Amino acid sequence: MLARHDSEHYEVHRVLVTDPVDQFLLDTLEKAGLSVDYNPTIGREGLLKVVSNYDALVVRSRTRVDADLLSEARRLKVVARAGIGLDTIDVEEATKRRIKVVYAPGASTDSVVELTIGLMISAARRLEDAFQRTKAGHFEKSSGIELHGKTLGVVGFGRIGSKVSLVAKTLGMKVLAYDVIDLSHVAATVGAQVKNLEDLLKLSDVISLHVGLKRGDPPLLGSKEFEMMKRGTILINTSRAQAVDGIALLEAIKSGIVGFYATDVFWNEPPKESWELELLRHPKVSVTPHIGAQTEEAQRRIAEITAKALLMELGRGQ
Ligand code: NAD
Repeated sequence: MLARHDSEHYEVHRVLVTDPVDQFLLDTLEKAGLSVDYNPTIGREGLLKVVSNYDALVVRSRTRVDADLLSEARRLKVVARAGIGLDTIDVEEATKRRIKVVYAPGASTDSVVELTIGLMISAARRLEDAFQRTKAGHFEKSSGIELHGKTLGVVGFGRIGSKVSLVAKTLGMKVLAYDVIDLSHVAATVGAQVKNLEDLLKLSDVISLHVGLKRGDPPLLGSKEFEMMKRGTILINTSRAQAVDGIALLEAIKSGIVGFYATDVFWNEPPKESWELELLRHPKVSVTPHIGAQTEEAQRRIAEITAKALLMELGRGQ
């Protein structure tokens, strides 16, 4: 299908996909008549060289769409993030350049909620250790704790945080909630108590982070916040690593304040700094490689929503 322009000139919109995406997304864009180049391993230098040839860019977390990249993208009309957060995209700069930014908020909520609860149970029952030791031939019992009766502090009470709270309630947990916006109505529906951050940190046995950070926001948890926590607190992070000061976290794990850290997100993905590698390998840390949205269902929903939004911005929506 060809796009008609004011000058009676017809052209095919060109799309560059720079991260791995669901095949359904590629098929939908091609069926709509777009010329799609799929290069999910393209490096920064390569991308800077070719980006000026494209009308649309489809990215996930790996590709950073910053001011330098946007300044090279002379023909770009749309950046589509086939995912949830926009922290890897300089939305302000894109807006200045009249480049639309679209994404798929909410498409992976259920998948992330399930992973969060999985990490929570795994941390409480020390499942990673149990799996590894049993596979190594040591069929010996080890003990964990129940979540039932414990207090969960949910930091960031949006789509994922509020749904994690619902499941936690059914597990018999008491739920405390903190957010920067007024969430008393949602909290009441879920049966959570609203607290300020300090009280939440002091009272929780398990803390789960679900904040939607903006680019450049400072970490929410640093040494001062770790000092407020109960000894042995289980900390779960399926939001963004940058919500936590990693070096302060390592100290808090070593001193026993944080009893276990289970996370789906890392500061560098893959981790490369020495303190990151120390955290990654620490026996009281479990890490999954940013798989929160990595289910068949979530990927399909993300693909559908992203394709629809992108086609709409290119004037091809129904
Ligand atoms: P959401 O926008 O529905 O909720 C985020 C909440 O965080 C909002 O209520 C917001 O007010 C709150 N918030 C923002 N800054 C805060 C702060 N400094 N302190 C306290 N609260 C703050 O977002 P969501 O869909 O629930 O997603 C939550 C997080 O999960 C996001 O960071 C998102 O990027 C991340 N996420 C991760 C994966 C994954 O693969 N692990 C997948 C999807 C989403």
